[in-house]
Amino acid sequence: MKTIRTALVIYLYSITLIYSLPLMGQGPSNHGHKFEQLGTMLPTPNTYRNMDGSPGPDYWQQRVDYDIECWLDEKLQQLRGKEKITYYNQSPSTLHYLWLQLDENEHHASADKHRIEGSKISDIMSENALRSLEPWRELEEFGVKIFSVTDHNGDSLKYTIYQTTMRVELPKPIERGESFTFNITWNYNLIDRMNTTSWGRGGYELFEKDGNSLYTIAQWYPRLCAYTDDTGWQNKQFFGRGEFALTFGNFLVKITVPEDHVVGATGECMNYPQMLTAEQYQRWTQAQTAKQPVEIVTLDEAIKAEKHKEVMGTKTWIYEADNVRDFAWTSSRKFVWDAMPHYNEDGKRAMCMSYYAKEAYPIYSRFSTKAVAHTLATYSQYAIPYPYPSAISVEADNGMEYPMICFNPGRAEEDGTYTEHAKFSAISTIIHEVGHTYFPMIINSDERQWAWFDEGLNTFMQFVTESTWDPNYPHWAGPAELITHYMAQSKDQLEPIMTNSENLANYFANAYIKTACALNMLRETVMGREKFDYAFKIYCERWAFKHPTPADFFRTMEDASGVDLDWFWRGWFYSIDAVDVSLDSIKWYKVDLENNPERKEVVDTIHAKPGITHISQTRNIEGGVKFSVDEDPALRDFYSSYKPWEGKDSVMTYLTWLYDDTFTEKEKEKLYGKNNYYELFFSNKGGLVMPVIIEWTYKDGSKEIERIPVEIWRKNETNFRKVFVKDKEVTGIVIDPYKETADIDVANNNWPVKQLPSRFEVYKKNKTEETKNPMQRAGKT
Ligand SMILES: [Zn+2]
Repeated sequence: MKTIRTALVIYLYSITLIYSLPLMGQGPSNHGHKFEQLGTMLPTPNTYRNMDGSPGPDYWQQRVDYDIECWLDEKLQQLRGKEKITYYNQSPSTLHYLWLQLDENEHHASADKHRIEGSKISDIMSENALRSLEPWRELEEFGVKIFSVTDHNGDSLKYTIYQTTMRVELPKPIERGESFTFNITWNYNLIDRMNTTSWGRGGYELFEKDGNSLYTIAQWYPRLCAYTDDTGWQNKQFFGRGEFALTFGNFLVKITVPEDHVVGATGECMNYPQMLTAEQYQRWTQAQTAKQPVEIVTLDEAIKAEKHKEVMGTKTWIYEADNVRDFAWTSSRKFVWDAMPHYNEDGKRAMCMSYYAKEAYPIYSRFSTKAVAHTLATYSQYAIPYPYPSAISVEADNGMEYPMICFNPGRAEEDGTYTEHAKFSAISTIIHEVGHTYFPMIINSDERQWAWFDEGLNTFMQFVTESTWDPNYPHWAGPAELITHYMAQSKDQLEPIMTNSENLANYFANAYIKTACALNMLRETVMGREKFDYAFKIYCERWAFKHPTPADFFRTMEDASGVDLDWFWRGWFYSIDAVDVSLDSIKWYKVDLENNPERKEVVDTIHAKPGITHISQTRNIEGGVKFSVDEDPALRDFYSSYKPWEGKDSVMTYLTWLYDDTFTEKEKEKLYGKNNYYELFFSNKGGLVMPVIIEWTYKDGSKEIERIPVEIWRKNETNFRKVFVKDKEVTGIVIDPYKETADIDVANNNWPVKQLPSRFEVYKKNKTEETKNPMQRAGKT
């Protein structure tokens, strides 16, 4: 290597120093550990979870079945219920008690949720801001009332409630392979979920103009906490953000509501003929094979129903859902309901459906059910074929997800018109919330621990789905550029993606946008679509209807693609480093075509044998070591006649030829005259290593993209210099021309240096984008 460098120094001359930035401060060391394996940062593989990221030979998970009856009281705004729970212990553990979630207790006045956020007085306070200082003052009437917890004989079971969790003592331990059946009766007052102080995912919305309510009933029944091999009981408190960790099982749910309500729920309705008019049932049958959404309850019927709300009778809708981790439902007399089918490749049908009031009719009747079907088609392609019989989008002016059913925003203006922003907000949220049926409802991650693991993967797939809805779709996550504003913040504003759901300061930017953008970079820039898509699908297939951990995801993506990604997980998921690659300076060289008087000396230097110089050789000779080559005449003769530089293909040949006395100026001109040698000096100012993408612009106006793999940083994580040989003269260089690496400062990415918007201008632009964000408007997702 030394020889080559010497040759270039002698034979190339620098035409001019064209561009140079001052060298900025560098990291603590040139060679850090960014390319080392994650090692013990990941849990040790065991017989439950394999080292390749797949479920192990002894993988197990619990199962819990629910048989629930419930009654909605519209006058009292109250829900009461009784449920029979059958818990199957399939773990190797003997269980002495069971933990249940009472999430509705987040609204109880005593809940810690109301006391764990800091607050401040500002010069100008809105009424809502004042009321939110101590929201519990308005919440005396809320939270779950448990009336009884009994075993199958009707004998009471001892239980203890700790805010949003409840521990039930067992009369005798449940051994592996055994099941235990018990009953709970309960009720709770529904919250006004549009009220900022009682904010929640489920409850009612009262439409003041017509006096009717729209109910979204979620986290509504006492249900089992997840018990898994990696966490044991997931019984962390519910503070309203870190969502849920749940167990798969079968549901039979009987929902009694006012007789003019329309109910939509997780699973399949077992008694449509009794719930619908003959005409409606005929439309439902017609919808099974429709090419466009069919209105089963029409706008006229919905408007008529909302005017006749004084009804005395009730109806009981019966739903069944198999192999789901949760159950949610909606009810209102205001609903229009439409449906059309989605078919998997094997012909299996799922009904895509939407429920919406007249306020959402202009947007929802056009887009909702089609967005549901488009989501199922896309996720089926990249994850697993949609396995459930239905997928429902409910317009509820917010966003939240449950198996087969989700609640989304999408209202028009009073005159029936709507903005493009309102339209895309609705479509984005529908795609996102329907997509959640995959992550985490099927690929059942622990949301209370990891927000990113469902939100980030799902937001990434949402981006992929939006991209095939409209080529000019206004995405809010996915493209790398959309995370630079967050990543450019000071370090005290950033957390690693691998941070617990409740502990994130910038929850939305971190769990949703950073993860989605990172995965998209992995797909487009690091792995390529073929490898990424293959590995992502394998991950989904391995963990469908199971409980994956982040390590299972990280390991599977490497195992199935053959790409070492530890540096990527380390940088993007475990650190707060950002990408900021700087093109610090450039040197341009050409070959000196004239004879060089120093050439002979160089040849001599190369060919000169300096003799014995190092201590081992000295001691070998002093110690009288016999050298076998000298003792073997045949070998000695071979070496003395061996001239590797006479070969035609070796590196030595090239170098020797370069120094050949017979090398004419004409030959030099022919071979090297056109070459331009560009030596580029890069530094890593953000800390995060990424591939370096260079766009060259040549004198003739043509362009070329060159991609340098991330491993260019592996020996020196803060700087590298590299020479590029070009036939044509270069007039411009742009680093990361497609903005695919989330480089937070593009001012040092160009040669010649370009005038870029100031930081303040960029900030304003990004801020505007953020306010357009439908998920933020929705407040919860
Ligand atoms: Zn979400």
